[in-house]
Amino acid sequence: MAEKETAYLSLRNINKIYPNGFHAVHNFNLDVQKGEFIVFVGPSGCGKSTTLRMIAGLESISKGDMLINGQSANEKGPREREIAMVFQSYALYPHMSVYDNLAFGLTLQGVDEDVIEQRVMKTAAILGLTDYLDRKPRALSGGQRQRVAVGRAIIRKVGIFLMDEPLSNLDAKQRVTMRSEITQIHRETGATTIYVTHDQTEAMTMADRIVVMKDGYIQQIGTPYELYFDPVNTFVAGFIGEPPMNLLKTVLKDGSVNLGQNRLDLTSLFSDETLAKYNNKEVVVGFRPEAAVLTEKESPSFEMKCNVELTELLGDSANLYIDMDGVQAILKVDPHLIPDSDEALNFLIPAKSLYLFDSETSLRIRQ
Ligand code: ATP
Repeated sequence: MAEKETAYLSLRNINKIYPNGFHAVHNFNLDVQKGEFIVFVGPSGCGKSTTLRMIAGLESISKGDMLINGQSANEKGPREREIAMVFQSYALYPHMSVYDNLAFGLTLQGVDEDVIEQRVMKTAAILGLTDYLDRKPRALSGGQRQRVAVGRAIIRKVGIFLMDEPLSNLDAKQRVTMRSEITQIHRETGATTIYVTHDQTEAMTMADRIVVMKDGYIQQIGTPYELYFDPVNTFVAGFIGEPPMNLLKTVLKDGSVNLGQNRLDLTSLFSDETLAKYNNKEVVVGFRPEAAVLTEKESPSFEMKCNVELTELLGDSANLYIDMDGVQAILKVDPHLIPDSDEALNFLIPAKSLYLFDSETSLRIRQ
């Protein structure tokens, strides 16, 4: 089989309707550039795996077009698509050594023994598996097994790598290590990769671009920076970031909103037209827990008063659960500035860190 250059991919109005009539993916549009690392993220059932499986050729595409390197791939079988996939359950062959597990795909392709050996040694070196080549999978840790599974995919030179929650069977520490290893491998191989996860931290740390999905619909496509600072709706604003963005319902009246006892004058942030349009309407005010400034004064900003109900020390930061006359929110602050519980506190939200959303459509209100 000929070796493949890394590929680019276009998905045009892709839909999946399962035989039972369930419409799992709606009009999915995405162009993946050569060498890009794309992450599909979203809550359980949002259609991430279905989309990935359609790309792999494991599920048929009900409607829409898929092109690999500009060529239609809808009708191609999984093998013809030149795609390698790493699954959540990284079923290794238990009776084979790590070496043979890695070599297996190439052996099937009829690649020469000495080429196989070269590739196995190189892959093992990239993944830190050189010392384990003689071992059987049962004698490996979860993280090492996961590396073998990744190795089995990257040892073949294919156009596109697909990974479906490959780290979900690992413990928290192993996930962090493997996360950076996969990023490193991607940098070294430059292979076009699509990675599925429900973990927003994985998405933020690994992706060139993230596709946020909900209920079978794409909500937003963007770089981690764009999604964090420029979310299009309350779903994306609340999904990316930990703790999530505070999203507080209130009514816009005469250019201001109230959050408990705090009145925020929005006239410098939004146009007269926008403020008139939403006058007397319910809106959602958003600010990230980490946007709060406890000491130094920034300008321009909103000054707010609150009571601290509970504090949580995380190490590098602390979460403060606050109450503003019945409106509850979370602040994420410097751990050295933790106040006592029940303490009254003043904080500032820089104007650039305040978001406003339409309560009905959930869409961001801009200027
Ligand atoms: P998870 O993170 O839980 O794996 P996901 O985002 O990957 O979720 P999918 O597995 O793509 O979600 O499923 C999307 C929707 O399609 C779900 O509501 C699921 O129940 C439904 N679904 C999946 N497979 C089938 C099927 N064979 N027939 C009918 N509906 C299905």
